[in-house]
Amino acid sequence: CGTLYIVATPIGNLADMTHRAITILNNVALICAEDTRNTGRLLKYYEVTTPCVAFHDHNEQQKTALMVEKLQSGSDLALVSDAGTPLINDPGYRLVNLCRKEGVNVVPVPGACAAITALCAAGLATDRFHYEGFFPPKTSARQQLLQSLKEESATLVFYESPHRILDTLADIVTVMGPDRPLVLARELTKTFETFASKSASEMLQWVGDDHNQQKGEMVLMIAGYQRDPDAVSHEVVQTLTLLSQELP
Ligand code: SAM
Repeated sequence: CGTLYIVATPIGNLADMTHRAITILNNVALICAEDTRNTGRLLKYYEVTTPCVAFHDHNEQQKTALMVEKLQSGSDLALVSDAGTPLINDPGYRLVNLCRKEGVNVVPVPGACAAITALCAAGLATDRFHYEGFFPPKTSARQQLLQSLKEESATLVFYESPHRILDTLADIVTVMGPDRPLVLARELTKTFETFASKSASEMLQWVGDDHNQQKGEMVLMIAGYQRDPDAVSHEVVQTLTLLSQELP
């Protein structure tokens, strides 16, 4: 039985490709790529001549069984996405899930991932974090999600598209308050990489005032909720109120 390699690729800077990734891409029988033209450029840069087939959200269901058959007949395959780590908001879940069920060997070949790249240099707590992927596109669903995470003490890590960043920041101000610390990481590993640390309201103002901050690829991180040590909880206030009504 062959092996399925899950190969991470760069998220901007082509030099972030690992030696091991290049060796594996050279040695497998076939590369399954989210976009063959995109991956073609990377393969050309590293002079990899292995054939490449499309494997994306729209054909994943139909291609999965075919790829598992190829693996079971002894071929080694590699799965890559357009950028970063496959399966992290990218295709491949069905394939890996079926391989595990069928006893096909799956080997990760680690490398860049935008969420981890952003988090490790943001200056926010990293001991516990929630990776939340993309925000829902609609305001009502976004506010509902933010409400459910409002008192989460772990750092929250989101992907966001540039044309929704202002609406999302406005929703964060509304639901989590103007003072919640945020870090916006843009264009990681690329020429115009930026990290901005600001309160939610300052971030909304700053991104709104500067069109350059509304461009490119971005990761938005929200500091975890910190309970004010001096604040008296709602439950305590309720109990004291009830008690005071009963006492003479
Ligand atoms: N699998 C990828 C990974 O490992 O990070 C993520 C794929 S997801 C479809 C694409 C999103 O990742 C972008 O919209 C952006 O939010 C984030 N992203 C990817 N590359 C980035 C970069 N260079 N800088 C900032 N964010 C990036």
